[in-house]
Amino acid sequence: MTANVTELDAAKRAAPRIRSDVRHDWTRSEALALYNLPFMELLFRAQSIHRASFDPNKIQMSRLLSIKTGGCAEDCGYCSQSAHHASGLKASKLMEVERVINEARKAKASGATRYCMGAAWRSPKSRDMDTLVAMVEGVKGLGMETCMTLGMLSDDDISKLSHAGLDYYNHNVDTSEEYYSKVITTRTYADRLDTLARVRQAGIKVCSGGIIGMGEGADDRVGMLVTLANLEEHPESVPINMLIAIPGTPLENVEKIDPIDFVRTIALARIMMPLSYVRLSAGRTEMSDETQALCFFAGANSIFAGDTLLTAGNPGEDADSRLFTKLGLSPETLDDTFDATSKAPQSCSGISGDEAGQRNVRTS
Ligand code: SF4
Repeated sequence: MTANVTELDAAKRAAPRIRSDVRHDWTRSEALALYNLPFMELLFRAQSIHRASFDPNKIQMSRLLSIKTGGCAEDCGYCSQSAHHASGLKASKLMEVERVINEARKAKASGATRYCMGAAWRSPKSRDMDTLVAMVEGVKGLGMETCMTLGMLSDDDISKLSHAGLDYYNHNVDTSEEYYSKVITTRTYADRLDTLARVRQAGIKVCSGGIIGMGEGADDRVGMLVTLANLEEHPESVPINMLIAIPGTPLENVEKIDPIDFVRTIALARIMMPLSYVRLSAGRTEMSDETQALCFFAGANSIFAGDTLLTAGNPGEDADSRLFTKLGLSPETLDDTFDATSKAPQSCSGISGDEAGQRNVRTS
């Protein structure tokens, strides 16, 4: 049954992705109205938009490695790696290049097409750049896409990473501009947007999303997505994380988000950024199979594979494989990958367009 559906839709999806519905002028009120639609209506709209551009039964698989853990100067309230919080995490130095490449090789063998490397830094030191460049070159040499999340970057850092062939840079906005200062005080929302803009200008693809369940309201979730969707080009990758409240961090006692509200956020991301990969990121260990299935139906089409995300747990290959079998999903290959940058028509201006810190998702 699943195969037939896929075959029937294949021709439609193979057609040029000429999309006149990609917008960069969302208002908060119209986005909030979508978020608050009756749940079935919202999911139907999101799924319809999703399958106009993507195979609804394929999921892009990334793997994330912490190449430098803990001791970070920033004070992100969700993050175990911040030196400001008593999470008990032991800091480590930047990993050796060979070790990173070996880990990437294993990730590729297990089906990952993109390798994400995260360092717990406010920004990289210039003495580390040669090592970071060698990591990018080495992982690309394996035939994988590369992503890094290193905090704020100077123009020189960006230029070096770009020349090394870095495909994606992850730098999450985390939440709405209004709620941001309740979570992070050591750098501003504007700092984040500035880094994203300069990375984009250098031709590196952007990965940017946020964390849901930090005590924010629906208006903040919507506000975060309006910020991302109104960028000149949509991020190619939009990670949506569910907070894992970590002991020792300021958010350890925050109230858990209702999974239905989380699914609503995924659906809204899909509707507002129809050509982006929406990644179901941190927090999957705390989600039921049913919640994850709803997220995929709402338009999430990327996950992190493996049993760890930086310093925390992730479902692992066996659990994902069981879930994929139950749902009739399969991993996307690099040949399947939809590259909005190269396939979108000129007329769609803006389409021609890490992860993750909590214990598992850092958002440098
Ligand atoms: S999320 Fe990133 S920048 Fe923030 S404290 Fe954690 S490692 Fe540092």
